[in-house]
Amino acid sequence: MIAEVIVDVAHSDVDKIFDYACGEEIKAGMRVAVPFGRSTTTGFVMRVKETTDCPPEKLKTVYRTEDDVPAINAECLSLAEKISARYRCPMALSLRLFLPAEMRTGKVGRTFREYGRLNGDLPPVNPRARAQLACISYLEEHGETPMSELREKFSCVSALVKSGAILVEKRRELRTPYKSVAGGEEKHVLTPAQETAVRTVEETEKTVSLIHGVTGSGKTEIYLTLIADALKENKTAIFLVPEISLTPQMFSKLRGRFGGEVAILHSGLSAGERFDEWERLRMGDARIAVGARSAVFAPIENIGCIVIDEEHDGSYSSESTPRYRTFDIAYLRAKHNGCKLILGSATPAVETYRRAAEGEFELITLPDRINARPMPKVNIVDMRREVRRGNATPFSNTLREKLKSCLESGNQAIVFLNRRGYSRTVMCRDCGNVVKCESCDVALTYHSDEDCLKCHYCGAKYKPLTACPACGGTHINYMGTGTQRVVGELKKLYPQARILRMDVDTTSGKEGHYKILKQFADRKADILVGTQMVAKGHDFPSVTLVGILDADMSLHFPDYRSGERTFQLITQVAGRSGRAGAEGEVVLQTYDPENYILRFAAAYDYRGFYEHEIGMREAMMFPPFVKIVRVMVTGENEKETLEALRSVYGRLQAIYAAHEEEFLFFNRMHSPIKRIQNKYRYQVLMRMTQNAPLKEVYAAVAEEKQKNVLVYVEENPSNLS
Ligand code: ADP
Ligand code: ZN
Repeated sequence: MIAEVIVDVAHSDVDKIFDYACGEEIKAGMRVAVPFGRSTTTGFVMRVKETTDCPPEKLKTVYRTEDDVPAINAECLSLAEKISARYRCPMALSLRLFLPAEMRTGKVGRTFREYGRLNGDLPPVNPRARAQLACISYLEEHGETPMSELREKFSCVSALVKSGAILVEKRRELRTPYKSVAGGEEKHVLTPAQETAVRTVEETEKTVSLIHGVTGSGKTEIYLTLIADALKENKTAIFLVPEISLTPQMFSKLRGRFGGEVAILHSGLSAGERFDEWERLRMGDARIAVGARSAVFAPIENIGCIVIDEEHDGSYSSESTPRYRTFDIAYLRAKHNGCKLILGSATPAVETYRRAAEGEFELITLPDRINARPMPKVNIVDMRREVRRGNATPFSNTLREKLKSCLESGNQAIVFLNRRGYSRTVMCRDCGNVVKCESCDVALTYHSDEDCLKCHYCGAKYKPLTACPACGGTHINYMGTGTQRVVGELKKLYPQARILRMDVDTTSGKEGHYKILKQFADRKADILVGTQMVAKGHDFPSVTLVGILDADMSLHFPDYRSGERTFQLITQVAGRSGRAGAEGEVVLQTYDPENYILRFAAAYDYRGFYEHEIGMREAMMFPPFVKIVRVMVTGENEKETLEALRSVYGRLQAIYAAHEEEFLFFNRMHSPIKRIQNKYRYQVLMRMTQNAPLKEVYAAVAEEKQKNVLVYVEENPSNLS
């Protein structure tokens, strides 16, 4: 037999099929050790065939297989080919997506444990061998025992094994993540709205359904029902969540409902746990893959449904080569398996909602919370007034009073800091004005190295501000307040309150997020102060007040999606309030109280927000009406980096010249941040129509062979710094 092999070397020079002679035991999808050049390397068997054009004297032979069962199934092999073609990356890189990282390097494998038990027909033991008798009676009493434990307790174990008195059995041992999270929560009877949603998804002709349901509308129960229906048909399921480490409650629900059928895949697990969970899926011992974006590559077959929860979340875009979108992969898998793909969110991405509104996706709307619970009332507070009144603390009077009564009534509160976009946008604290680019309507960013303000979308530079051009005020704000300071101030105001802080500094460690959230859920604290992490889909029944400090900070992030992001954040954070019991409330502090984004968010008017936003995008020629494409060129050696830039720019320019009508903008420049981690950063920035030859752009980039320089394509990147 002949195996067609892709060697596991991520370089375009060897990115092709090599034929090797092999035995019958080799199957497509297995990893094999093969002679390559002067050494041995691992390869992936793409196909097995009878004959080859390779001359017999040149044909080498597979040394051995690394897998007893194919590591990558047929569907995933063809998916890897599609990914390589779409993103123009070497096959080795797309194949790696389908394996736990440590498996490649051989650092992780199955673990086994030896157990000893008494031999039924016990060979004679010398009655004077006291120690041996003790060991035997221990086994009589305790039954089967791990050998390690026996060896620790008794010195004569080896002799007993040798004589045949103890039988040893080696068994696979599985490492289980989140052992501490118990399965919880009973199953609910679906409300009519939930029923209808499930039926619509299952009956529609369309592959993709978007469930747009307000926070607390019971979307999770819909997903679980769809997954249960898939299992009933003997199928499997993929359930993607943005960051499962942030949502242990979700995991507990799944475990409660599906027990051992659930396997978790995400980077926060130990290598061994990840490997074992992955193997349980591959062997069919678990049928539901749950996890962050990488779980879309789960080694399962016969998929019955794929769910992407919080589909708007930024973590669904990969930030290393290949820079895939989780939706695209999930869609290919849904098509291949003939199953449904379900997207869910209270705040769908504008691009997703448009596809649903235009009929490409089935749109399912859940406008009400479960049990007709009211949405929490949002109070917008004008912080400019507070500044003028001399209030220098991060809290408005309204927020202080409401916090006080929330604590007095024995409820819990969340105080949210909008960290995103703090850094270098410049805002006047007297009037809330933010300086924007004259041609792009995007907030400018301050760069201290050149002492200037820059537009990340066109490269334009402006002089820094000393006074506000709108009101002449001089309270120019460059920096926001940190979580630590907020906690300090809260302690002064409410000395009795127990306060928890959740941010990158307090959540290190494997289950760091979980520990803090658990404490808060167990009511071991009264106030939770945190950044974006507290906004995710947590369900804390006793939270009745949410304070959003600096709600508008993220409006001015230099990103065409900053309005959308702000709307999403506010809606998500507000959604933590009043989910059960007493009615919830939200205090939204801003320097821009008239802002339409905040107004729509406060009114829970997604549709209004969407209509406004999509109109603005069309007028300004932003996605989804155009594509923003950036080719990044980065390297430690500036000369080499510039050479790579020159050659890639040359090829891109040829594309531009041939399709000029498809380009709205085309230029090369320094990236706004010129160096990161010792790497020089240059870019070719393009804004193009949907018909633009994106494939050619990828091809032009793939051709770049300059060593030590990284060149890659970003489509609609969320960060242009
Ligand atoms: P979402 O994901 O839309 O924010 P959840 O799925 O978290 O909403 O549901 C909100 C709350 O309603 C949860 O506490 C959940 O247990 C509860 N819930 C969901 N479905 C039902 C139902 N059919 N009957 C009663 N309670 C339900
Ligand atoms: Zn600009």
